[in-house]
This record gives sequence, structure tokens and C-alpha cells, in this order.
Amino acid sequence: MLNDLHSHGLWEASAPPAPSTLPLDGATEADVAIVGGGYTGLSCALHLAESGKSVVLLEAHEFGFGGAGRNVGLINAGLWLMPDDVSAVIGRAQGERLLEVLGDGPALVMSMIDSHGIDCELRRNGTLHCAVDARGLEELKQREAQWKKRGAPVRLLDARETADRVGTNAYVGALLDQRAGTLQPLAYARGLARAARAKGARLHTSSPVISAERHGSHWDVRTQAGRVDAEWLVVATDAYGTGPWRSTQEAQTRLPYFNLATAPLDRTSLGTILPGKEGVWDTRTILSSFRLDREGRLVFGSVGALRNGGAGIHKAWARRALARLFPQLAKVDFEHEWFGQIGMTEDAVPRLHAFGPNALGVFGFNGRGISPGTVFGRELALLILGEKGQDDLPLPMSGLKPPSLRGLKEIYYEGGAQVAHLVGDRL
Ligand SMILES: Cc1cc2nc3c(=O)[nH]c(=O)nc-3n(C[C@H](O)[C@H](O)[C@H](O)COP(=O)(O)OP(=O)(O)OC[C@H]3O[C@@H](n4cnc5c(N)ncnc54)[C@H](O)[C@@H]3O)c2cc1C
Repeated sequence: MLNDLHSHGLWEASAPPAPSTLPLDGATEADVAIVGGGYTGLSCALHLAESGKSVVLLEAHEFGFGGAGRNVGLINAGLWLMPDDVSAVIGRAQGERLLEVLGDGPALVMSMIDSHGIDCELRRNGTLHCAVDARGLEELKQREAQWKKRGAPVRLLDARETADRVGTNAYVGALLDQRAGTLQPLAYARGLARAARAKGARLHTSSPVISAERHGSHWDVRTQAGRVDAEWLVVATDAYGTGPWRSTQEAQTRLPYFNLATAPLDRTSLGTILPGKEGVWDTRTILSSFRLDREGRLVFGSVGALRNGGAGIHKAWARRALARLFPQLAKVDFEHEWFGQIGMTEDAVPRLHAFGPNALGVFGFNGRGISPGTVFGRELALLILGEKGQDDLPLPMSGLKPPSLRGLKEIYYEGGAQVAHLVGDRL
């Protein structure tokens, strides 16, 4: 991607090629103009095109340039927030609706992958949220109870079953979420693009939107070399918004997160490390995550940016941490490295914002955007198709106010992760 091996790492190296696209050139018309070629924009484009709407999607760089091509690939259900806390933030009715659609989010992702034949290393084996201590286990017990109350197929595993499934004794228990799974994130984004194009959506890459103005009942959306006249505008730029959509980036605090991928593990290691191929993350504040790819590489990640002094600190920490978790990997080299920015909102709930009449955006997925981005792309499409009203959407409308002390928090997250990984001897 843009010839930068540190932006999309393994995913760029192993994804099927992107569908070939051209920048927008000249003037065109559409029912809907969509800005951003990640999961939200591409899911919206695909759902609209399937229902016969004419769609033009404009992506500044390439599909998956933002979080969609850089993430861990955990297809999670729900939000970071405890289920019961969601109602406290946005109210009971909308909160329960949000939990329902996001609880079903992985199923939507998997069914779209199936129905469009997307080759993206999908595994439906669930995820394991692993407790590192008694406090973490207590949190997982509460999560289990709150999800079970809502009928979700989650199960708390004891230390022994966790050790069997993960291949280490490092954890005191884990919450298995059978709704969840893993995928190759960039391959999923490219597959959505291919599917949307096959249904008639017109997709343009290398086409940063530089302005969008309301003229009469339409939006005039401009790039350097082209313009789209559209009845509706969808903004799907999340933490990577630029130009007029920098506001979506600034309405969030960005948390850097890196990933390192080993060479394919040998057969013996693969027999003990995640033999069931679940995705894993833990209960630490500065969390770690890991999962296997199709070739048996371990993708290991944590908070931090691989730049300036951070690159050396985080990689050295990752080697130590991996060796403590899996001593048999003490000598394994990392073959790929990359990082990205996770957009966090102050209350950990995504944002639905109206940029004007018939102009909507959803962003702020707090590190959970694979299913929520796909779900909200569909929700916006249903609204535009008239199949849902604004009041049926499972999120309240919100403003674009930047989080308090945003800049300081970003410095603190990046620097704090370096300090923690430099001095933290515990994993
Ligand atoms: C390192 C990392 C790890 C993560 N791990 C996970 C995980 O395991 N599971 C999970 O569910 N989520 C995870 N996430 C979060 C997830 O990747 C995001 O929430 C998701 O990508 C959001 O999708 P999106 O389509 O809304 O935005 P993005 O994927 O960020 O796409 C936005 C797009 O908009 C484009 N754009 C911006 N401005 C303009 C403009 N002016 N004109 C045209 N195009 C524009 C950008 O180039 C970009 O391609 C992670 C994120 C990161 C960074």
C-alpha cells in the first residue's frame, strides 16, 4: 500500500489483489456519494447497489487504507463497553437495539463473505478474551452474565481449558464468544469492494474528496479532477478522515496499535498454540492480542506506534512477551510489522452524525469496526432506501466535538505504551 511496508504489513503481503479502479475524472451523477473505502463505506455501497441505487464511492488512497487494512482481524460482537453500560450511555431502548445489531454483527459479516464468495481467511471459531488476574476474571464473569441474559452464546472457561485452547498457562480463565471469529482484514475490504462493483457500484480510488457542498436538493462532492452530483452523501472516514472529513478524525482520540507477524510456525507449535484457531486478546489496560493467519503465522499486537523510539521498544518487548507466553517461540523472528490508529470516543460508543440534509456519517468504533462498520454501512443503506427511519437507527445523533484534552491524551497513549513496554517486566 503506497509502497510502505509498515502501514499494512502482512495483510498487504497476503491479500488477494484489489479490484482495479481509476481515480474519478470528470462530472457524474449518482443517488448516493460515499466517502471512504473501508468497511463502513464499502458495506453501504454494496447494500445500496444490491437494491438498485446508483452509487459512487470515493476513496482517498486504496480500499482498506485506513483501519480496515491494518487491524487484528478479530470479528467481535458488541462493543468494548460492558453490555449493561451501553444503556446507561445511550438509553435503554436504543442501547438494547445497538447490542442486538452488534451482537448479530459477526453473523452479518460471515453471511456477506459467504454470499459474495469473499476469499479472506474467515474462521468461525470464536474469540477468547483472556483474564490475566483475578480482577480480569471478575470482569469476564460479569460480561458473561450480561451477555447470557441477552441469549448470547458465550461461555467462561476455567484456567485449564483456557490453557488447552491457547497453549499457555499465562491466563486464569477466558470468555469464549462463539459468535466471533477472525479474518484477513484487507482481504475482506477488497472482497467487499469487488462485490460492490459487481453489483454496479462505481468505485474510485486515489480520489480524495476535497469539498462537499449542498446545492438545492443535492450534494456537489468534489475531488481534484472530478465531481459527483448526488442526492445523498455518506461519510465513512472514521479515524483516517482528511480534507473536509478531518472532523471525524478529530472527534476521536487516536490510540496507536501495532502488529508483528512471525514466520509460519512449525507443525509442533501449531499443534499446541491455538489449535482451535480462535482469536485472542487479554484484560490488561495495555492489552495484547494474537491470532494465527492461514499460513500459521502468529500475529501478535499491542498498544503502541512503530515509529521513532517506539519501533525498537515495542519489538523488543514483543519478543520477550512472546517468549514468556510460548517459550518454544523464543527464537522465532518477526517477518512483518505494521501499525495503525484506533479511533476512540469519550464514552466508547460510536457516533452517528448528520453533516447536513441527507448527509450522514458513522464513526468512532473504538477498536471494533469489522462488524460494526459492516452493520452501520447496512443501516445507513436501509435508511437511504427508506426501509428504516432515523429513529429506527440504534444510535442517537451526536455532534463532532473533539474529546477533551485530545492532543495530550494521544501523546500520553503513545508515550505511555513505550514506557510500559520498556519497563514492564510483566507481560
Ligand atoms: C491496529 C488496529 C487494530 C484493530 N483491530 C481491530 C479488530 O481486531 N477488530 C475490529 O473489529 N476492529 C479493529 N480495529 C478497528 C477497525 O479497523 C476500524 O474500526 C474500521 O476499519 C473502521 O472502518 P471504516 O470503514 O469506518 O473506516 P476505515 O477503515 O478507517 O476507512 C476510512 C477510509 O476513508 C478514507 N478517507 C478519509 N478521508 C477521505 C477523503 N477526504 N476522501 C476520500 N476518502 C477518505 C481513508 O483513506 C480510509 O480508507 C483496529 C484498528 C486498528 C488501527
